[in-house]
Amino acid sequence: MAELKQTNEELSQAKETAETANRAKSEFLANMSHEIRTPMNAVLGFADLLYSLVTDSKQRHYLDSIRSSGKSLLTLINDILDLSKIEAGKMELQYEPVNLYSIINEIRHIFSLKISEKGLEFIVDIAEDIPQSLLLDEVRLRQILFNLFGNAVKFTKEGHIRLCAKKIYIEEDRSSVDLIMGIEDTGIGIAPDSLESIFSAFKQQESQSTKCYGGTGLGLAITRRLVEMMAGEITVKSEIGKGSVFEIVLHHVSVASTPAKSEIEEAFDHENIIFEEATVLIVDDIETNRDLVNAFFYDTPISTIEAENGKKAIHLARQYHPDIILMDIRMPVMDGYEATKQIRADEKIREIPIIALTASGMKEDKEKLMNSKFDGFLIKPIQQSGLFKELARFIRHSKKETPEEASERSVREDSFDGIPPETLERLPELIRQLENDFMPLWESAHNNHSIVDIENFGDKIKAFGDTHSLRHFKRLGEKLVSQAKMFDIENIGVTLKSYPELVERIRELISVAE
Ligand code: ADP
Repeated sequence: MAELKQTNEELSQAKETAETANRAKSEFLANMSHEIRTPMNAVLGFADLLYSLVTDSKQRHYLDSIRSSGKSLLTLINDILDLSKIEAGKMELQYEPVNLYSIINEIRHIFSLKISEKGLEFIVDIAEDIPQSLLLDEVRLRQILFNLFGNAVKFTKEGHIRLCAKKIYIEEDRSSVDLIMGIEDTGIGIAPDSLESIFSAFKQQESQSTKCYGGTGLGLAITRRLVEMMAGEITVKSEIGKGSVFEIVLHHVSVASTPAKSEIEEAFDHENIIFEEATVLIVDDIETNRDLVNAFFYDTPISTIEAENGKKAIHLARQYHPDIILMDIRMPVMDGYEATKQIRADEKIREIPIIALTASGMKEDKEKLMNSKFDGFLIKPIQQSGLFKELARFIRHSKKETPEEASERSVREDSFDGIPPETLERLPELIRQLENDFMPLWESAHNNHSIVDIENFGDKIKAFGDTHSLRHFKRLGEKLVSQAKMFDIENIGVTLKSYPELVERIRELISVAE
């Protein structure tokens, strides 16, 4: 008995030691990623900015080299970090509604230049019945497809690359699917004895020329682990000289009831935003990082002040009362957490929104960030679109009108002239129909984002407009139907919004007539 007790104690002590070591490893990785990524972000950011200023072709060529080497280094660091995170059990999947079609479109877009340079044919074969919105981890799914697709392009000189996707419903109620995706190429192929080893870290095919293909051998190792984390499996079939097919099966993928977020977010276009005057306090210990953020505001009426640590930031916040603070986390003298705590405790400046700038995607840090009193956070490398999107939450701004909005406005401003007298006479009755019969349909189209509901509503409104010679309604209906057919989610939102406004205008028409 005593022996058993001692073994138990020893075991729990060993477990604790292992856990402490593991935590130390994660912490080390987080630090390493921060330390390497921070200067790399500056290198890449400034190379980008410089590129737009330089016209000499030789200088541009040098800048290209800086950019591409920097990017490979950053990719390598991120790969090593990803793999270590997965192995330490620190990688968490975040499931959200994802639109597979838009991810595949994105891939097509990103690789299109390379594919056409190589003269390859790109075939996309996606079954049309794959649901628009599936619960998946978008970032990781993209990473998987990018890795496989990148390899297919890299190892194929001529012929085609085919991307196919289909699904099998596995529940009677159609609430989830098994998703099958394949990436087929007509490239160099893989020797039978390498088919398994290529999935190991740092492994490439025997005798493969690094000079010719480059790479680190990490992509497939990460891909396999990610697929497995998503309750799936990846297999490969290949023949030397003929080509390869990588196939992924993801089991039990839930069909999402809301549309994919990315489609809504895509609607944010930082180039169309016009900020009003505002002051931003940039807090970061590294000067080049501050310069980079500063450069993003070139051409905007936003002015900036800078602090290199939390203490100085508090001082400047009291002195200048900026509209917003961008706060780095790790800084000497006083870090971002402490500075934020002190700002929140100071009545005069506690209301200033603070956006955390963080270099780490580690879970512990995320939790700490969530528990601190930040109003938002941005992960480095900071990009202009992400930054402007966060700022738009707090700084007054207007937007340049998109063509869609302009045409919507012209419909709104179009007068109701030319309505036939028989329609005018029946307006009260027609309004009742618009409100009692159609408004519930509008609400369900608006709230459920169901394409079928939207199309149905569009059809009804079109017919209504036709029957009563109300061209505004007819046009609105036609537009909705065509947008629904094209799954143009972004513009459907804009068009739908104009319905209650139209009804309101018709109502005003009666009160004027009375
Ligand atoms: P990397 O591409 O960086 O070397 P990966 O882990 O993505 O790393 O791939 C490992 C190896 O598997 C590659 O170096 C290559 O030898 C082989 N491989 C992967 N995809 C293909 C493909 N589509 N055709 C031929 N060989 C491939």
